[in-house]
Amino acid sequence: MSRRAAILKEMGLAPVWKLRTGTVSAPDESGQATASTATPSTTRQTAAAVEARNATQQSPAAATGSREERIARMDWTELRSAVSACTACGLRAGCTQTVFGVGDEKAEWLLVGEAPGAEEDRLGEPFVGQAGKLLDNMLAAIGLARGKNVYIANTLKCRPPGNRNPEPEEMAKCAPFLLRQIALIRPRLILAMGRFAVHTLLQTEATIASLRGRLHRYAGVPLIVTYHPAYLLRNLPDKAKSWADLRFAVKTLDTLRSEAQQEKV
Ligand code: SF4
Repeated sequence: MSRRAAILKEMGLAPVWKLRTGTVSAPDESGQATASTATPSTTRQTAAAVEARNATQQSPAAATGSREERIARMDWTELRSAVSACTACGLRAGCTQTVFGVGDEKAEWLLVGEAPGAEEDRLGEPFVGQAGKLLDNMLAAIGLARGKNVYIANTLKCRPPGNRNPEPEEMAKCAPFLLRQIALIRPRLILAMGRFAVHTLLQTEATIASLRGRLHRYAGVPLIVTYHPAYLLRNLPDKAKSWADLRFAVKTLDTLRSEAQQEKV
């Protein structure tokens, strides 16, 4: 058995599916393929586009003005320091450390999760523990690895006590840090994993099920919605949907790359 087949078997995704050529669409909740209604961008989004979105972000945090504007001008070093020192919401008082994010700062892929869990809080890195292992296996199945053309960040940088759901005010306070990370990375594609990442980036309360299988955009950057690996561990049948989302993401990125290449010619 090949390594890829072994990985997919571990994910519960056997038999192995192969990517098809042509238009890619993720299956809907009934497993039926659905047509993607969006067309991939022809260019990698510029920092200016993301910066513009930061400046006009319609989150509650934007209303605080100066703090968000300062964060939107930070470089990596300043941003790390600001996150580390942040006490803007009550979560910092109850966590061990902030969890900034990890990976290739020039990555094409940006994976956005929700909030640190117990292991992430202990180790200071997102997506560790069982959910992290599953994520690593999912990345390996599409030829990616943590830190290699991939950056991983959470929507919230501090662990909510007892892994409770974050409050809207906490998400709003923390959002400028993620938005700045996106502006600095300038990813070609964002994979928003779980509803809190989706709510923050798409400003919608819609369900993951209703949003997946289509191409969305955050500040012009193509964005695909999928389930959080921790959710998949509790809902094994949805692993197949997640795999379909990954295939959709791979195909979309391939299209974006080839269109960008054609623009250069
Ligand atoms: Fe600051 Fe975000 Fe931590 Fe709240 S969760 S204290 S906003 S870093």
